This record gives sequence, C-alpha cells and structure tokens, in this order.
Amino acid sequence: MTGNRTFTMIKPDAIEKGVGGAILKQIQEAGFKIIALKQTKMSPEQAGKFYFIHCERPFYADLCSFMSSGAIIPAILEKENAVEDFRKLIGATNPANAEPGTIRKNFAESIDKNAIHGSDSNDNAIIESNFFFSELERIS
Ligand code: ATP
Ligand code: MG
Repeated sequence: MTGNRTFTMIKPDAIEKGVGGAILKQIQEAGFKIIALKQTKMSPEQAGKFYFIHCERPFYADLCSFMSSGAIIPAILEKENAVEDFRKLIGATNPANAEPGTIRKNFAESIDKNAIHGSDSNDNAIIESNFFFSELERIS
C-alpha cells in the first residue's frame, strides 16, 4: 500500500487565484483518490521545517516566506505508482518548462509561485503526510 500513496499541497498562489477546486478536479480526473484533505495555513517556522531539505539553497528564505503567506490545501492521494505519476501530472518545477496539460502549465506563473507540491519519493510521501495528517484525518 505504501508505494501507492503520495502527498500534495496546493500552494498559496493557486488558492489566492481561486483555482484550488479546478486543480483538485484535475487530480481526481487523473485517477487519484483523495485519502485526506484540508485547508490550513503554515507559520514561517512550519514552512521552514517542511522544506528543511532546501535550507542551504539561496531561495530557502523566500520559499518559506511564500509558503506561509496564505492558505494551502494539503492532501494524501492514492493511485498505482502514485509518486511518479503525480510528478508527471504536475509537470516541471518551472512552469515555463512544464509539458502542456500539466497542472503547473495550466495554473502556475513562475518557478517560485508554481501552484502545487508533489512528493519526490515514497519515503518523503510518508514523512510529508505525517507532517500534516493524523490517522483520524485519513479515510484509511
Ligand atoms: P516541490 O517540492 O514544491 O514539489 P519541486 O520538487 O518541483 O517542487 P524542488 O527542487 O523540491 O522542486 O524545490 C522546492 C520549491 O522551491 C519549488 O517548488 C520552487 O517553488 C522553489 N524553487 C526551486 N528552485 C528554485 C529556484 N531556482 N528559484 C526559486 N525558487 C525555487
Ligand atoms: Mg521537491
């Protein structure tokens, strides 16, 4: 079961633009089942913890500031080959390089305001899911 789940987070730019619902629709139409979902907002400290893997990168401070600037929609998703298929669905980090039809091509404006996060491995999907959701908040 572990390999069939990934974690996502619709970012503040997309919520602000009012396209959170449209993004969830595209995710569901691509065959992902929603296991957990909520709307919340991170503090700068929480964003710093979530993206700690990037703490040495020059964009880390801006990334944490942006990710705590507004509402986000975190979710756990299930599908065969979930992590890899979801990365394909969201497209390249920089929307300018994203394939047509991907979520970032459809909804993102720039590399720093790129609409959505997707886990990059099964291990990180579990860590990131546990960061946001208790067992009670998941359907199974
Ligand atoms: P995410 O982890 O959000 O799904 P990603 O895996 O495609 O994105 P990462 O390399 O993990 O990309 O970078 C995390 C986030 O940091 C990116 O989504 C982007 O918002 C920001 N970021 C990455 N590279 C840059 C950059 N060169 N300049 C500004 N922001 C960047
Ligand atoms: Mg990443």
